[in-house]
Amino acid sequence: MVHASGIPVFVDQVRPDDPFFCFRPERLERAATWFRDSFPGQVFYAVKANPALHILDGLWAAGIRGFDVASPAEIELVATRFPEADLAYMHPVKNRNAIARAYHEFGVRRFVLDSHAELQKILEATNFAKDLILVVRVGVSNAGAAVPLTGKFGASEAEAPGLLRETRRVASRLGVSFHVGSQSLNPGAWPAAMANISRLIRKAAVTVDIVDVGGGFPSLYKSDGGMPALADYAASVDDAFEDMMVLESAELWSEPGRALVAEAESLLVRVDGVKGDALYLNDGGFGALYDAVNLGWEFPVRAHSPEKALAGRTRAWTLYGPTCDSADKFALPVRLPADIGEGDYIEFGNIGAYGRSMSTRFNGFGGYGLVETDDAPFASAYVPEAWTAPVPVPAPAEIATLAVSLKP
Ligand SMILES: *Cc1c(COP(=O)(O)O)cnc(C)c1O
Repeated sequence: MVHASGIPVFVDQVRPDDPFFCFRPERLERAATWFRDSFPGQVFYAVKANPALHILDGLWAAGIRGFDVASPAEIELVATRFPEADLAYMHPVKNRNAIARAYHEFGVRRFVLDSHAELQKILEATNFAKDLILVVRVGVSNAGAAVPLTGKFGASEAEAPGLLRETRRVASRLGVSFHVGSQSLNPGAWPAAMANISRLIRKAAVTVDIVDVGGGFPSLYKSDGGMPALADYAASVDDAFEDMMVLESAELWSEPGRALVAEAESLLVRVDGVKGDALYLNDGGFGALYDAVNLGWEFPVRAHSPEKALAGRTRAWTLYGPTCDSADKFALPVRLPADIGEGDYIEFGNIGAYGRSMSTRFNGFGGYGLVETDDAPFASAYVPEAWTAPVPVPAPAEIATLAVSLKP
Protein backbone atom coordinates (compact mmCIF):
# COMPACT_ATOMS: atom_id res chain seq x y z
CA MET A 1 0.00 0.00 0.00
CA VAL A 2 1.23 3.49 -0.87
CA HIS A 3 1.43 5.96 2.00
CA ALA A 4 0.80 9.71 1.61
CA SER A 5 0.63 12.61 4.02
CA GLY A 6 -2.51 13.94 2.41
CA ILE A 7 -4.38 13.17 -0.80
CA PRO A 8 -3.62 16.51 -2.56
CA VAL A 9 0.11 15.80 -2.29
CA PHE A 10 -0.48 12.26 -3.54
CA VAL A 11 -2.30 13.67 -6.56
CA ASP A 12 0.47 16.18 -7.28
CA GLN A 13 3.25 13.64 -7.12
CA VAL A 14 1.61 10.51 -8.54
CA ARG A 15 -1.22 11.73 -10.81
CA PRO A 16 -2.77 8.27 -10.86
CA ASP A 17 -4.57 7.01 -13.98
CA ASP A 18 -6.74 4.59 -11.97
CA PRO A 19 -9.25 5.46 -9.27
CA PHE A 20 -7.79 5.04 -5.77
CA PHE A 21 -9.30 4.13 -2.44
CA CYS A 22 -7.82 6.39 0.22
CA PHE A 23 -7.59 4.52 3.52
CA ARG A 24 -7.72 6.39 6.84
CA PRO A 25 -6.84 3.89 9.59
CA GLU A 26 -7.44 6.43 12.33
CA ARG A 27 -11.07 6.83 11.20
CA LEU A 28 -11.58 3.08 11.22
CA GLU A 29 -10.12 2.77 14.68
CA ARG A 30 -12.27 5.62 15.95
CA ALA A 31 -15.48 3.96 14.71
CA ALA A 32 -14.53 0.54 16.10
CA THR A 33 -13.57 2.05 19.45
CA TRP A 34 -16.86 3.93 19.65
CA PHE A 35 -18.86 0.74 19.06
CA ARG A 36 -16.78 -1.18 21.59
CA ASP A 37 -16.97 1.49 24.28
CA SER A 38 -20.28 3.25 23.71
CA PHE A 39 -22.62 0.78 22.09
CA PRO A 40 -24.24 -1.77 24.39
CA GLY A 41 -23.54 -5.43 23.65
CA GLN A 42 -21.26 -7.49 21.44
CA VAL A 43 -20.47 -6.25 17.94
CA PHE A 44 -20.55 -8.57 14.91
CA TYR A 45 -19.17 -6.60 11.95
CA ALA A 46 -21.25 -7.22 8.78
CA VAL A 47 -18.41 -8.24 6.46
CA LYS A 48 -20.34 -7.50 3.28
CA ALA A 49 -20.02 -3.76 3.91
CA ASN A 50 -16.29 -3.94 3.12
CA PRO A 51 -14.33 -7.21 3.08
CA ALA A 52 -10.91 -5.71 2.19
CA LEU A 53 -8.08 -7.16 4.24
CA HIS A 54 -6.78 -3.81 5.54
CA ILE A 55 -10.31 -3.10 6.80
CA LEU A 56 -10.68 -6.48 8.51
CA ASP A 57 -7.19 -6.16 10.01
CA GLY A 58 -7.90 -2.65 11.28
CA LEU A 59 -11.12 -3.76 12.96
CA TRP A 60 -9.37 -6.75 14.52
CA ALA A 61 -6.55 -4.52 15.80
CA ALA A 62 -9.17 -2.22 17.35
CA GLY A 63 -10.62 -5.14 19.28
CA ILE A 64 -13.59 -6.22 17.14
CA ARG A 65 -13.92 -10.01 17.54
CA GLY A 66 -17.38 -10.75 16.12
CA PHE A 67 -18.09 -11.04 12.39
CA ASP A 68 -21.47 -11.36 10.68
CA VAL A 69 -20.83 -13.53 7.62
CA ALA A 70 -23.32 -14.51 4.93
CA SER A 71 -21.54 -16.76 2.42
CA PRO A 72 -18.97 -19.56 2.33
CA ALA A 73 -16.39 -17.14 0.90
CA GLU A 74 -16.88 -14.65 3.76
CA ILE A 75 -16.64 -17.44 6.33
CA GLU A 76 -13.42 -18.79 4.83
CA LEU A 77 -11.95 -15.29 4.56
CA VAL A 78 -12.55 -14.38 8.20
CA ALA A 79 -11.92 -17.82 9.71
CA THR A 80 -8.54 -18.22 8.02
CA ARG A 81 -7.42 -14.67 8.80
CA PHE A 82 -8.62 -14.73 12.43
CA PRO A 83 -9.00 -18.31 13.72
CA GLU A 84 -10.15 -16.90 17.10
CA ALA A 85 -12.98 -14.81 15.61
CA ASP A 86 -16.60 -15.26 16.70
CA LEU A 87 -18.49 -15.96 13.49
CA ALA A 88 -22.25 -15.62 13.09
CA TYR A 89 -23.71 -17.06 9.88
CA MET A 90 -26.52 -14.55 9.44
CA HIS A 91 -27.95 -15.38 6.01
CA PRO A 92 -31.51 -16.67 6.52
CA VAL A 93 -31.33 -19.01 3.47
CA LYS A 94 -28.16 -21.11 3.22
CA ASN A 95 -27.25 -24.15 1.18
CA ARG A 96 -26.71 -27.44 3.01
CA ASN A 97 -23.08 -27.86 2.10
CA ALA A 98 -22.33 -24.33 3.24
CA ILE A 99 -23.96 -25.00 6.62
CA ALA A 100 -22.10 -28.31 7.01
CA ARG A 101 -18.74 -26.71 6.14
CA ALA A 102 -19.38 -23.76 8.43
CA TYR A 103 -20.15 -26.07 11.35
CA HIS A 104 -17.68 -28.91 10.83
CA GLU A 105 -14.76 -27.17 9.10
CA PHE A 106 -14.85 -23.62 10.50
CA GLY A 107 -16.44 -24.19 13.91
CA VAL A 108 -19.37 -21.85 13.34
CA ARG A 109 -22.09 -22.30 15.98
CA ARG A 110 -24.27 -19.20 15.47
CA PHE A 111 -26.84 -19.54 12.69
CA VAL A 112 -29.82 -17.43 11.75
CA LEU A 113 -33.10 -18.77 10.33
CA ASP A 114 -36.52 -17.40 9.48
CA SER A 115 -38.49 -20.55 8.55
CA HIS A 116 -39.17 -24.12 9.68
CA ALA A 117 -37.54 -25.40 6.47
CA GLU A 118 -34.29 -23.57 7.28
CA LEU A 119 -34.33 -24.88 10.86
CA GLN A 120 -34.69 -28.43 9.57
CA LYS A 121 -31.88 -27.84 7.05
CA ILE A 122 -29.51 -26.55 9.75
CA LEU A 123 -30.29 -29.54 11.99
CA GLU A 124 -29.73 -32.08 9.20
CA ALA A 125 -26.56 -30.44 7.88
CA THR A 126 -25.01 -30.43 11.37
CA ASN A 127 -26.17 -34.00 12.21
CA PHE A 128 -28.55 -32.58 14.82
CA ALA A 129 -25.77 -30.89 16.75
CA LYS A 130 -26.53 -30.10 20.39
CA ASP A 131 -24.45 -26.93 20.64
CA LEU A 132 -26.23 -24.71 18.12
CA ILE A 133 -26.86 -21.06 18.91
CA LEU A 134 -29.93 -20.38 16.77
CA VAL A 135 -31.21 -16.90 16.06
CA VAL A 136 -34.73 -16.42 14.68
CA ARG A 137 -34.95 -13.41 12.42
CA VAL A 138 -38.24 -11.57 12.62
CA GLY A 139 -39.51 -9.13 9.99
CA VAL A 140 -39.92 -5.57 11.32
CA SER A 141 -40.83 -2.16 9.92
CA ASN A 142 -38.10 -0.51 7.83
CA ALA A 143 -39.72 2.94 7.93
CA GLY A 144 -37.04 5.64 8.08
CA ALA A 145 -34.33 3.61 6.34
CA ALA A 146 -32.70 4.83 3.13
CA VAL A 147 -32.24 1.22 1.97
CA PRO A 148 -35.15 -0.96 3.16
CA LEU A 149 -34.23 -4.62 3.68
CA THR A 150 -37.73 -5.79 4.46
CA GLY A 151 -39.83 -8.22 2.47
CA LYS A 152 -37.14 -10.72 1.55
CA PHE A 153 -36.23 -12.03 5.00
CA GLY A 154 -37.75 -12.30 8.45
CA ALA A 155 -40.53 -14.48 9.91
CA SER A 156 -43.94 -12.78 9.91
CA GLU A 157 -45.76 -11.95 13.14
CA ALA A 158 -48.02 -14.92 12.52
CA GLU A 159 -45.14 -17.37 11.99
CA ALA A 160 -42.70 -16.08 14.62
CA PRO A 161 -44.21 -17.53 17.86
CA GLY A 162 -44.41 -21.08 16.46
CA LEU A 163 -40.92 -20.84 14.98
CA LEU A 164 -39.50 -19.54 18.28
CA ARG A 165 -41.05 -22.49 20.17
CA GLU A 166 -39.78 -25.03 17.65
CA THR A 167 -36.27 -23.52 17.64
CA ARG A 168 -36.17 -23.34 21.46
CA ARG A 169 -36.52 -27.17 21.60
CA VAL A 170 -33.36 -27.81 19.61
CA ALA A 171 -31.14 -24.79 20.34
CA SER A 172 -28.54 -24.72 23.08
CA ARG A 173 -29.18 -20.96 23.10
CA LEU A 174 -32.03 -19.09 21.43
CA GLY A 175 -31.77 -15.62 19.94
CA VAL A 176 -34.05 -13.22 18.10
CA SER A 177 -32.83 -10.77 15.47
CA PHE A 178 -34.18 -8.12 13.13
CA HIS A 179 -32.88 -5.50 10.70
CA VAL A 180 -34.51 -2.08 10.50
CA GLY A 181 -32.97 -1.34 7.05
CA SER A 182 -29.69 0.28 6.08
CA GLN A 183 -28.85 3.93 6.80
CA SER A 184 -31.76 4.27 9.21
CA LEU A 185 -32.27 7.89 10.21
CA ASN A 186 -34.78 6.90 12.88
CA PRO A 187 -33.32 5.80 16.26
CA GLY A 188 -36.93 5.06 17.30
CA ALA A 189 -37.03 2.14 14.84
CA TRP A 190 -35.12 -0.04 17.34
CA PRO A 191 -37.36 0.43 20.41
CA ALA A 192 -40.43 -0.10 18.19
CA ALA A 193 -39.03 -3.36 16.80
CA MET A 194 -37.90 -4.55 20.24
CA ALA A 195 -41.29 -3.91 21.84
CA ASN A 196 -42.92 -5.81 19.02
CA ILE A 197 -40.54 -8.72 19.45
CA SER A 198 -41.24 -8.80 23.20
CA ARG A 199 -44.88 -9.33 22.35
CA LEU A 200 -43.99 -12.25 20.08
CA ILE A 201 -41.76 -13.78 22.76
CA ARG A 202 -44.57 -13.54 25.31
CA LYS A 203 -46.97 -15.16 22.85
CA ALA A 204 -44.49 -17.97 22.21
CA ALA A 205 -43.85 -18.37 25.97
CA VAL A 206 -40.16 -19.14 25.46
CA THR A 207 -37.02 -17.98 27.21
CA VAL A 208 -34.67 -15.97 25.01
CA ASP A 209 -30.89 -15.83 25.58
CA ILE A 210 -29.86 -13.32 22.90
CA VAL A 211 -31.32 -10.20 21.32
CA ASP A 212 -29.56 -9.19 18.09
CA VAL A 213 -30.51 -5.67 16.98
CA GLY A 214 -28.93 -6.04 13.52
CA GLY A 215 -27.30 -3.21 11.55
CA GLY A 216 -28.67 -0.07 9.94
CA PHE A 217 -26.76 2.51 12.00
CA PRO A 218 -26.13 5.45 9.70
CA SER A 219 -23.04 7.09 8.36
CA LEU A 220 -22.53 10.79 7.78
CA TYR A 221 -22.83 11.85 4.15
CA LYS A 222 -23.49 15.56 4.63
CA SER A 223 -20.91 17.69 6.33
CA ASP A 224 -23.66 19.65 8.12
CA GLY A 225 -24.89 16.55 9.91
CA GLY A 226 -28.26 15.44 8.59
CA MET A 227 -28.39 12.41 10.88
CA PRO A 228 -29.20 11.90 14.55
CA ALA A 229 -26.13 11.45 16.79
CA LEU A 230 -25.00 7.82 17.10
CA ALA A 231 -25.27 8.21 20.89
CA ASP A 232 -29.06 8.49 20.41
CA TYR A 233 -29.07 5.07 18.76
CA ALA A 234 -27.04 3.54 21.58
CA ALA A 235 -29.36 5.04 24.21
CA SER A 236 -32.50 3.88 22.35
CA VAL A 237 -31.23 0.32 22.09
CA ASP A 238 -30.02 0.26 25.68
CA ASP A 239 -33.34 1.51 27.10
CA ALA A 240 -35.44 -0.78 24.93
CA PHE A 241 -33.33 -3.80 25.90
CA GLU A 242 -33.98 -3.09 29.59
CA ASP A 243 -37.71 -3.31 28.92
CA MET A 244 -37.63 -6.55 26.93
CA MET A 245 -39.18 -9.88 27.88
CA VAL A 246 -35.88 -11.75 28.04
CA LEU A 247 -33.74 -13.47 30.66
CA GLU A 248 -31.86 -11.22 33.06
CA SER A 249 -28.68 -12.81 31.71
CA ALA A 250 -29.62 -12.30 28.04
CA GLU A 251 -26.91 -11.02 25.72
CA LEU A 252 -27.26 -8.10 23.35
CA TRP A 253 -25.67 -8.33 19.91
CA SER A 254 -25.46 -5.88 17.00
CA GLU A 255 -24.35 -6.27 13.38
CA PRO A 256 -23.15 -2.85 12.21
CA GLY A 257 -21.70 -2.68 8.71
CA ARG A 258 -21.91 0.79 7.25
CA ALA A 259 -21.34 2.79 10.46
CA LEU A 260 -18.09 0.93 11.22
CA VAL A 261 -16.38 1.37 7.85
CA ALA A 262 -17.92 4.25 5.86
CA GLU A 263 -15.39 6.83 7.07
CA ALA A 264 -12.41 4.51 6.69
CA GLU A 265 -12.11 5.10 2.95
CA SER A 266 -12.71 7.80 0.38
CA LEU A 267 -12.52 7.44 -3.40
CA LEU A 268 -10.19 9.49 -5.56
CA VAL A 269 -11.27 9.78 -9.20
CA ARG A 270 -9.96 11.76 -12.15
CA VAL A 271 -11.82 13.87 -14.67
CA ASP A 272 -10.91 12.31 -18.02
CA GLY A 273 -13.12 14.52 -20.14
CA VAL A 274 -15.32 17.62 -20.06
CA LYS A 275 -18.26 18.26 -22.39
CA GLY A 276 -20.47 21.27 -21.68
CA ASP A 277 -21.70 20.89 -18.12
CA ALA A 278 -20.68 17.21 -17.95
CA LEU A 279 -17.60 15.67 -16.36
CA TYR A 280 -16.53 12.15 -17.38
CA LEU A 281 -14.89 10.32 -14.45
CA ASN A 282 -12.78 7.18 -14.26
CA ASP A 283 -15.21 5.50 -11.82
CA GLY A 284 -18.98 5.45 -11.60
CA GLY A 285 -22.14 3.44 -10.97
CA PHE A 286 -20.68 0.09 -11.94
CA GLY A 287 -17.80 0.89 -9.61
CA ALA A 288 -17.63 2.31 -6.11
CA LEU A 289 -20.13 5.10 -6.86
CA TYR A 290 -23.11 2.76 -7.15
CA ASP A 291 -25.08 4.66 -4.48
CA ALA A 292 -24.51 8.07 -6.11
CA VAL A 293 -25.60 6.80 -9.54
CA ASN A 294 -28.42 4.47 -8.59
CA LEU A 295 -29.76 5.87 -5.31
CA GLY A 296 -28.99 9.57 -5.69
CA TRP A 297 -26.78 9.68 -2.62
CA GLU A 298 -24.70 12.80 -2.13
CA PHE A 299 -21.25 12.07 -0.79
CA PRO A 300 -19.06 14.84 0.59
CA VAL A 301 -16.61 15.99 -2.11
CA ARG A 302 -13.45 17.97 -2.52
CA ALA A 303 -11.65 18.73 -5.74
CA HIS A 304 -7.96 19.14 -6.40
CA SER A 305 -6.01 20.14 -9.48
CA PRO A 306 -2.35 19.23 -9.88
CA GLU A 307 -2.07 22.10 -12.39
CA LYS A 308 -3.61 25.13 -10.72
CA ALA A 309 -5.41 26.49 -7.67
CA LEU A 310 -9.10 25.84 -8.37
CA ALA A 311 -11.55 28.71 -8.12
CA GLY A 312 -13.62 29.02 -4.98
CA ARG A 313 -16.66 29.56 -7.21
CA THR A 314 -18.65 26.37 -7.80
CA ARG A 315 -21.33 25.24 -10.25
CA ALA A 316 -23.55 22.20 -10.66
CA TRP A 317 -21.92 19.54 -12.84
CA THR A 318 -23.45 16.44 -14.40
CA LEU A 319 -21.19 13.47 -13.62
CA TYR A 320 -20.73 10.35 -15.74
CA GLY A 321 -18.88 7.13 -14.97
CA PRO A 322 -16.46 5.55 -17.46
CA THR A 323 -18.53 2.67 -18.85
CA CYS A 324 -20.37 2.80 -22.16
CA ASP A 325 -23.74 2.27 -20.47
CA SER A 326 -25.75 5.50 -20.52
CA ALA A 327 -27.20 4.56 -17.10
CA ASP A 328 -23.72 5.29 -15.72
CA LYS A 329 -24.72 8.82 -14.73
CA PHE A 330 -25.05 10.39 -11.28
CA ALA A 331 -28.71 10.74 -10.32
CA LEU A 332 -28.09 14.26 -9.01
CA PRO A 333 -25.75 17.06 -10.16
CA VAL A 334 -22.73 17.73 -7.94
CA ARG A 335 -21.40 21.17 -7.02
CA LEU A 336 -17.71 21.44 -7.87
CA PRO A 337 -15.33 24.27 -8.79
CA ALA A 338 -16.45 26.08 -11.94
CA ASP A 339 -12.98 25.78 -13.52
CA ILE A 340 -12.38 22.05 -12.88
CA GLY A 341 -11.08 20.35 -16.01
CA GLU A 342 -9.50 17.33 -17.60
CA GLY A 343 -6.72 15.90 -15.45
CA ASP A 344 -8.15 17.27 -12.21
CA TYR A 345 -9.24 15.03 -9.37
CA ILE A 346 -12.34 14.64 -7.20
CA GLU A 347 -12.35 12.89 -3.84
CA PHE A 348 -15.65 11.41 -2.61
CA GLY A 349 -15.61 11.07 1.16
CA ASN A 350 -16.99 8.36 3.46
CA ILE A 351 -17.33 5.77 0.70
CA GLY A 352 -15.90 2.88 2.77
CA ALA A 353 -19.23 1.11 3.15
CA TYR A 354 -20.51 -0.78 0.12
CA GLY A 355 -18.45 1.23 -2.41
CA ARG A 356 -15.82 -1.43 -2.93
CA SER A 357 -18.31 -4.26 -2.33
CA MET A 358 -20.66 -3.13 -5.09
CA SER A 359 -18.04 -2.47 -7.76
CA THR A 360 -17.87 -4.65 -10.86
CA ARG A 361 -15.37 -5.17 -13.69
CA PHE A 362 -17.97 -4.17 -16.30
CA ASN A 363 -16.36 -2.81 -19.46
CA GLY A 364 -12.90 -3.56 -18.06
CA PHE A 365 -13.11 -0.84 -15.42
CA GLY A 366 -13.18 -1.37 -11.66
CA GLY A 367 -9.45 -1.75 -10.93
CA TYR A 368 -8.42 0.38 -7.94
CA GLY A 369 -5.24 1.52 -6.32
CA LEU A 370 -4.94 1.89 -2.56
CA VAL A 371 -3.24 4.72 -0.69
CA GLU A 372 -3.05 5.15 3.06
CA THR A 373 -3.28 8.77 4.16
CA ASP A 374 -3.00 10.86 7.34
CA ASP A 375 -5.30 13.71 6.35
CA ALA A 376 -8.90 13.74 7.53
CA PRO A 377 -10.82 16.33 5.51
CA PHE A 378 -14.32 14.90 5.75
CA ALA A 379 -16.82 15.26 8.58
CA SER A 380 -17.18 12.36 11.00
CA ALA A 381 -20.29 10.88 12.60
CA TYR A 382 -18.09 10.32 15.65
CA VAL A 383 -17.39 14.05 16.08
CA PRO A 384 -20.87 15.67 15.99
CA GLU A 385 -19.52 19.00 17.25
CA ALA A 386 -17.56 19.38 13.97
CA TRP A 387 -20.48 18.75 11.62
CA THR A 388 -20.70 22.25 10.20
CA ALA A 389 -17.00 22.45 9.35
CA PRO A 390 -16.41 22.85 5.60
CA VAL A 391 -14.15 20.39 3.80
CA PRO A 392 -10.71 22.04 3.88
CA VAL A 393 -8.46 22.01 0.83
CA PRO A 394 -4.82 22.84 1.55
CA ALA A 395 -3.30 25.83 -0.19
CA PRO A 396 -0.71 25.03 -2.92
CA ALA A 397 2.09 26.37 -0.71
CA GLU A 398 1.10 23.97 2.03
CA ILE A 399 1.09 21.05 -0.39
CA ALA A 400 4.67 21.66 -1.46
CA THR A 401 5.85 20.96 2.08
CA LEU A 402 4.08 17.60 2.33
CA ALA A 403 5.58 14.33 1.19
CA VAL A 404 4.53 11.07 -0.42
CA SER A 405 6.46 7.93 0.30
CA LEU A 406 5.92 4.98 -1.99
CA LYS A 407 6.07 2.03 0.35
CA PRO A 408 5.34 -1.16 -1.55
C1 LIG B 1 -26.32 -5.88 5.56
C2 LIG B 1 -26.60 -6.44 6.90
C3 LIG B 1 -26.07 -5.83 8.05
C4 LIG B 1 -25.31 -4.53 8.01
O1 LIG B 1 -26.17 -3.48 7.72
P1 LIG B 1 -25.64 -1.95 7.77
O2 LIG B 1 -26.81 -1.18 7.32
O3 LIG B 1 -24.48 -1.86 6.86
O4 LIG B 1 -25.27 -1.67 9.18
C5 LIG B 1 -26.29 -6.45 9.26
N1 LIG B 1 -26.99 -7.59 9.35
C6 LIG B 1 -27.53 -8.21 8.27
C7 LIG B 1 -28.27 -9.47 8.45
C8 LIG B 1 -27.35 -7.64 7.01
O5 LIG B 1 -27.90 -8.25 5.95
